[in-house]
Amino acid sequence: MNYDAGTLRPTEHGEVWVTDDGGEIDQDLGNYERFFCTDIPKRNNITTGQIYKTIIDNERAGKYLGETVQFIPHVPDEIKRRIKAAAEGFDFCLVEVGGTIGDFENIAYLFALKSLEREIGKDNITYILITYLPIPSHIEEMKTKPTQQAIRLLSENGIWPDFIICRAKKPLDDVRKKKIEMMANIRRENIISEPDIDTIYRIPLDLEKEGLGKKLLEELKVKAKKEPEWKSWKVLVEALVDGKKEVNIAIVGKYVDIGDYSLADSYMSINQALAHSAANLRVRLKITWVDSKRFEKHPEELKELSQFNGIIVPGGFGSSGVEGKIKAIQYAREHDIPYLGLCYGMQLATIEYARNVCGMGDANTTEIDPKTEHPVITILESQKKILEQSQLGGTMRLGAYAAALQEGSVIQKLYKEKRIERDADRVKELRKDRQQAFRLGEFGPKDIIVVERHRHRYEVNPLFIERLEKGGFVFSGFHLRSDGTKLMEFMELPKHKYFVGTQSHPEFKSNLEDPAPLFLGLIRAGMK
Ligand code: GLN
Repeated sequence: MNYDAGTLRPTEHGEVWVTDDGGEIDQDLGNYERFFCTDIPKRNNITTGQIYKTIIDNERAGKYLGETVQFIPHVPDEIKRRIKAAAEGFDFCLVEVGGTIGDFENIAYLFALKSLEREIGKDNITYILITYLPIPSHIEEMKTKPTQQAIRLLSENGIWPDFIICRAKKPLDDVRKKKIEMMANIRRENIISEPDIDTIYRIPLDLEKEGLGKKLLEELKVKAKKEPEWKSWKVLVEALVDGKKEVNIAIVGKYVDIGDYSLADSYMSINQALAHSAANLRVRLKITWVDSKRFEKHPEELKELSQFNGIIVPGGFGSSGVEGKIKAIQYAREHDIPYLGLCYGMQLATIEYARNVCGMGDANTTEIDPKTEHPVITILESQKKILEQSQLGGTMRLGAYAAALQEGSVIQKLYKEKRIERDADRVKELRKDRQQAFRLGEFGPKDIIVVERHRHRYEVNPLFIERLEKGGFVFSGFHLRSDGTKLMEFMELPKHKYFVGTQSHPEFKSNLEDPAPLFLGLIRAGMK
């Protein structure tokens, strides 16, 4: 029922994924972007909350002209309308109905798909059921019953799967394939085994081995335009799993309420971005989660940080664990351990420098201490107004923003390697869409700019920039607003092996074939 993922707790639901156009979306969309290597807009995320809100708003505005507003047809109709809008202009549209068949939440979506099938014809729609085949440890036997149930439940909605992808710890054997074949009444070749593997990036290769691409095209009666080429992908997948040298990166954050489970989901994109860079540099990645609160009570434990090849302070909100993060950043700076600060991680690096190098002992962000004499990070009133007027996400700066990079800076060099060209294309697209054009800032067409995504309220306070820079802190990239205000986007300490921060979240634009430059820089420095 959530409208979007903006208000969800990441430790419970996983990371909030941010799109170029400022959507706050379920992390799953991120996987599609990473695999398709393309920017996916927020309209591609459809939630029940959005559907109901639209329908109730329409009803209040009298748009149904006296009709009785009902679950059927109004809810499936609104779902269909949104699917079609997202598919507009594309050759194929992939719809993932989340959750498990039998969930109450899915019913409207299954109705919508069935109705879409009637509209566009069965030749133009293919259903893939993804099921899980448990192997209970006390009998060590793979069970097909849940799959059979899923097929039956789907059929109650008039949907028969054309393909079944069988997730399990182990590959599917012939006996079980036959059972499923009988139950679903489909060709055996369309039952595809997808056992657990070492990395999700191997999945396309496995599915290709099963010929899924060809079979899908056949099913949809579409002719292939070219043969897929997997060579470079294969090389990267192998590098992901068998790098010789190990790089050990600490992610220092506040870690609460996760129970017995790891933080992999709350920091999904950071993990992925690190993995992409490690694979491209042919090293094995080790990630260690370090709870910053420890350093508040036991500063003597800070020296444990010296065992890491790099430290990241990720994005975050609120005061919990913040002083510990600042201590960790100080340790990284003073001991020249490669450091990458992401959003809050850049803000806190600014505070640390202001306090310990520039003599502003009580420097802080007004998010934590609204009364500080040195609010080096603060809410810019003018920025708040602009964001409120734009009505895109309340007072948060959300989505892609362009930044110009300082000539010759560490950051510019990293972006120059590969990304600048890709971003130039992105800028052209943003220019076309007048509603999104404000994200470009006031840069001329010739300026070399990069585009990264944002999700924050606070900014570096322009009143302190000169003092910080005099003290040796370098702001190496900024966004230029139409009223001339500069928003600081990147910082670096050039004398260090690698000490870099950004107000953005570059992890959202990383993929295996095109890793995020700042992560690449961190791993490279860590390898040294
Ligand atoms: N809390 C900070 C802000 O709102 C940083 C947010 C973040 O790290 N995404 O500006």
